[in-house]
Amino acid sequence: PPFSALGLLPALAHAAAAQGYDQPTPVQAAAIPLLLQGRDLRASAPTGSGKTAAFVLPLLQRWSASPRQQPRRLHTLVLVPTRELATQVAEQVQALAAELPDVPRLVRAIGGVSINPQMLALRGGADIVVATPGRALDLAARNALRLDGLQALVLDEADRLLDLGFADELQQLLRRLPAERQTLLFSATFPPDVQALADALLREPAQVQA
Ligand code: AMP
Repeated sequence: PPFSALGLLPALAHAAAAQGYDQPTPVQAAAIPLLLQGRDLRASAPTGSGKTAAFVLPLLQRWSASPRQQPRRLHTLVLVPTRELATQVAEQVQALAAELPDVPRLVRAIGGVSINPQMLALRGGADIVVATPGRALDLAARNALRLDGLQALVLDEADRLLDLGFADELQQLLRRLPAERQTLLFSATFPPDVQALADALLREPAQVQA
């Protein structure tokens, strides 16, 4: 089916086409309708499967339909293992949101660079944050990243998050999140530790396989 048949807003389907996405990939076709309904998701999807747009498009639509709060509260937190992936995800968010009437405020929060500009950016109010776990936790501990109103959490490349030793930071972050939320877990592989994380985090998840 084309993107427009998956239930996406014309502005999002059109932005996907503008990126050169003619047809949804299998992961996108399976995941997008479920995510638009607010389901949790366990997705077995490697890099190259189109997994990023599979969560970015429906979460942008859910953000777009959600009431604006004053002060602005974080809607979506995407946790990624590396700064390179943070940049790639942030670029897709920007490109795919470009035609929405109201464009989300996006903050990229990665370790290894000064925290001050990130704190300043968050002070202005963010709708979507793409972060590595250690930096996200640091920002949350400083009250720069407020997680109490969070609607959606994405763990991207969960197997690499655990391989890189982020299990502890993840657990500490998860304790700060509201229980009522949509949670998505993407991973190329599901060894026992990743499956245990999925079991702990996801509520009656839909399952998708690339
Ligand atoms: P990902 O698996 O999210 O890392 O995406 C891999 C690459 O595929 C990225 O460069 C995307 O821009 C591209 N891509 C994502 N969805 C589609 C699609 N439906 N058609 C063609 N390319 C896509």
